[in-house]
Amino acid sequence: MIKDTIVANATPLIPSAVSIIRISGDRALEIGRKLFRLPESIRERRVYFGKITDSKGSVIDEGLFIFFKGPRSFTGEDVVEIYPHGSVPVVKKIIEEAVNLGARFAQPGEFTKRAFINGKIDLTQAEAIADLIEARSEKASRVAVNILEGKLSEKVKELRNSLLYLVSLIEAEINFPEDVEEIDPDQIKKGLEHVIKGIDDLLRTYRKGEIIREGIKLAIVGRPNVGKSSLFNALVGYERAIVSEYRGTTRDFIEETVSIKGIPVKLLDTAGLRETEDKIELIGIKKAKEKIEEADVVIFVFDLSEGLTDEDLRIYEQIKYKDPIVVGNKSDLVNEKELDIFRKKYYFKNVLFVSTKLQKNLDHLEEEIFHKLGIIEDSDSEIYINLRHYKALEKAKNILKKTVQNIDELIDFKEILMLEISEAEKYLEEITGEITTEDVLENIFSRFCIGK
Ligand code: GDP
Ligand code: ZN
Repeated sequence: MIKDTIVANATPLIPSAVSIIRISGDRALEIGRKLFRLPESIRERRVYFGKITDSKGSVIDEGLFIFFKGPRSFTGEDVVEIYPHGSVPVVKKIIEEAVNLGARFAQPGEFTKRAFINGKIDLTQAEAIADLIEARSEKASRVAVNILEGKLSEKVKELRNSLLYLVSLIEAEINFPEDVEEIDPDQIKKGLEHVIKGIDDLLRTYRKGEIIREGIKLAIVGRPNVGKSSLFNALVGYERAIVSEYRGTTRDFIEETVSIKGIPVKLLDTAGLRETEDKIELIGIKKAKEKIEEADVVIFVFDLSEGLTDEDLRIYEQIKYKDPIVVGNKSDLVNEKELDIFRKKYYFKNVLFVSTKLQKNLDHLEEEIFHKLGIIEDSDSEIYINLRHYKALEKAKNILKKTVQNIDELIDFKEILMLEISEAEKYLEEITGEITTEDVLENIFSRFCIGK
């Protein structure tokens, strides 16, 4: 049992209209009462307006007070929330008083950790709270909310239940061989394969989750003057890269993170990959190659008004391993007939004609970027797993795959078969936190900020 009562500011220590101080633990109300002038008897989940006082009874501020009686609170313990004005010295003073009255200043994530320990939320939900707070895009926040609502836990529990059912079948036959029908190895195999498929579905969401959380890197490549910087600017939405009439102005890279359809996209405008003796430019080209290597999506740009030159082709050859999106720019300088010729002549699978000058077809380009990433417009149930989930799922999957492979032998060693399936099931329990170690908890909750 957790005995001590903790206190922290739940809002950042910056001047603001209102701040929230949270106290959680057995002594929350007792301490709260000493900090806030309240009526003799109060009700839970009621807002009280009144004076906040120090131990000598002098008024520090006035504000609001709410008492959440455990277990109907965020942490599952008695919780008091005090809302003073968002004055840094006032907030500090109230916390100091609470500490003098016996509360302890909370560690980062400690409130959420208590919510987990007290069974208010599982580990995926605790992680989702941190993800939600850190979310850098609308999409990331939506996914975090889905997981916070328990949508990932649900899926994992379904898989666990399937495994537990199989374990119970095997167990029954071990314990009551006379009373139950002999197990059909095919049934076990089918059951396991079904779970493996479910695990695979979840594993596949990992890459997308990473994209949503971390964003993606997009490199724009092409010879000088084809309009890379212009395209970059068009995607960024304001004049950031230098656009010039001369060749080779973009010596280094310009990096900018923009939000495209709610996903953070880091745009890299690279120097042209051309042949040069110039030392500084060579460094630039080397760096450009590294950036292209790292990029999640590469856009290859050429100039429609000049056609596809040898230099274009030489650059394209160097990057085609990245399966770039091919963009013919300056479509405003050529007519429909010429475009048709391009369509037929070019050996690219697909060329997207755009004009950064007239802002033509750029929406198609955005769509194409998402298509390349395999991101489809999301449904409300969209969830993405994180690395911790990934590792646990992979371990479970490996065990189950081996079990399926050896099912014909294992069916004669039912205890071992049962143990194998149980072990896989344990890895699934790790995801939601039924089984967990202090290290894992430490890792998860250290990500939090104070007061969460
Ligand atoms: P970069 O060297 O590949 O980065 O090319 P820039 O973006 O600097 O553009 C080179 C020149 O092409 C500039 O003068 C731009 O104004 C011009 N340019 C870029 N995009 C277009 C376009 O769609 N249509 C026309 N007509 N000119 C463009
Ligand atoms: Zn440029």
